[in-house]
Amino acid sequence: MNCFDCSTLGLSSDAVAVCADCGAGICPDHARMSPRWLTYTAAINRTVVVEPPARTIRCPAYRSAWDAAANCHAAAG
Ligand SMILES: [Zn+2]
Ligand SMILES: [Zn+2]
Repeated sequence: MNCFDCSTLGLSSDAVAVCADCGAGICPDHARMSPRWLTYTAAINRTVVVEPPARTIRCPAYRSAWDAAANCHAAAG
């Protein structure tokens, strides 16, 4: 499989991962890794974060959309 984002630029790179959000193949240059914190519920419905975090790999499109959404929330105050 080739990197989807590279192909839109007319390039051809081998994909090393698959976007967890849209399923596109992504090369190391386009992969965006973020920690994904797993939790469990302790007594009295307390949510406890488990160390170390797992990971989620997504394409740049997801990251751009995420940043745009964060800006919308910031603008809305
Ligand atoms: Zn790429
Ligand atoms: Zn994606």
